Amino acid sequence: MKCRSKKSIKLTKFGKIFFSSIALVIIGIFSIVFQSGNDDSNDKYIFEINYPKLQNKAIAKAIKKYIDEKKENFVKETEKYEIDDLENDSNFKYEFLSDYEISDASTVIGVHININEYTGGAHYIKEDKSYYFDKEREEEITIKDILENDNSLEKLSNKAFYYVMKYGEDNNLSFDEVWVNDGTRADYVNYNYFNLLDDGLEIVFVPYQVSCYADGYIHIVIPYGDLLGIIKDNYIPKEEKEEVPRRSVEDFKDKKLIAFTFDDGPSGNTDKLLDHLDEHNARVTFFVMGNRVLKYRDIVKRAYDMGNLIGSHTYSHKNLLHLSKYETMKEIYLTDKNIQSIINITPIYLRPPYGNIDANIRSIANRGIIMWDLDTEDWKNKNKNKIVDYIVNNAHDGGIVLLHDLYEVSVDAALEAMEILEEKNYAFVTIEEMIRIKEIELDNDKNYYRFID
Ligand code: ZN
Repeated sequence: MKCRSKKSIKLTKFGKIFFSSIALVIIGIFSIVFQSGNDDSNDKYIFEINYPKLQNKAIAKAIKKYIDEKKENFVKETEKYEIDDLENDSNFKYEFLSDYEISDASTVIGVHININEYTGGAHYIKEDKSYYFDKEREEEITIKDILENDNSLEKLSNKAFYYVMKYGEDNNLSFDEVWVNDGTRADYVNYNYFNLLDDGLEIVFVPYQVSCYADGYIHIVIPYGDLLGIIKDNYIPKEEKEEVPRRSVEDFKDKKLIAFTFDDGPSGNTDKLLDHLDEHNARVTFFVMGNRVLKYRDIVKRAYDMGNLIGSHTYSHKNLLHLSKYETMKEIYLTDKNIQSIINITPIYLRPPYGNIDANIRSIANRGIIMWDLDTEDWKNKNKNKIVDYIVNNAHDGGIVLLHDLYEVSVDAALEAMEILEEKNYAFVTIEEMIRIKEIELDNDKNYYRFID
């Protein structure tokens, strides 16, 4: 759908007259509905103000002050206008309407004041202001107070961009990426209207902020699972979660560590690998495809329950460097969603297809970027002995081996290499175990090719 650009909303004279007549009809209806509350309305003005009723007197007072000042300014401004300039119609009245909404689903109460001013023309001028109140701390807070740290706003902005674009797509509104980017930019003023709901953080974008006026308010809900590390823990409802199986690091302290990683799966061959891992006291990492995991959900679940690590290899193996911001997000976030639906966790490691990534994509991914330093080229040579020899001859402490569980030969080669390396004091660990044992402070702005002390 095309709509007027947000910079050119000047109406023609004809437009003014046309819309004013519509507005007059609306006023007619409003004056009946709101009759009871028209305290100081008169020949020139309609005032309809609902002050929120709140237990906390300080906040109630601050809100009343805000509305009253707005009203005062409105009167001052409109007194300057010549009413003849707008309409010759004696029925014309200026309007000042103020209403509110309260959200109270978590530790935070939100009070949203919505003021509509009418001074003629096509639209009411809308103004939204929200107040937030932390129930436990008993004080007023802002979005800044619920965010984890200084980098959180940038991360929240990425999530918001994605969910707004998705909203547009789901509702057949072709949102303009540039406009959405602007309205969701990492600036606190873009995030003044939010609610902490039971299932996620709701962010409301006012008309024009991310799309056409006609689209109205855009409500998105970012699930809490997407907000770990972005908003503070105490604002995330506690959920009973199964403990992630973790092996004790003590067993591996005097060993050389190597991480076998399997890309592009899962596949029918993955089960064979899982069947034999215990024989080598091994756990491995799977960088799975988002578009395959639902088909092989039992394998993903089995691998995870055994204590293997499930990382993301994106949705459909595209070169991320060639995609738009929204397309990149879809590749990463849709994979998260599918994995989440199987094992109830969001993968915290990503291996970009072809190893292609840049700073922007790292910021969107916001997780550990894991490359490899032992490339078996199994997909090319499909020769078990070659693969085994390569791994055994190049293995080193902290190494990351790249394999693909799409091929049975790769699975066989991995197991055979493990058998040989076991004799050489190697232990086979996941990426997560490697990081934990080597006490590495992961930096999401870096690519990791190996883990050497
Ligand atoms: Zn791949």
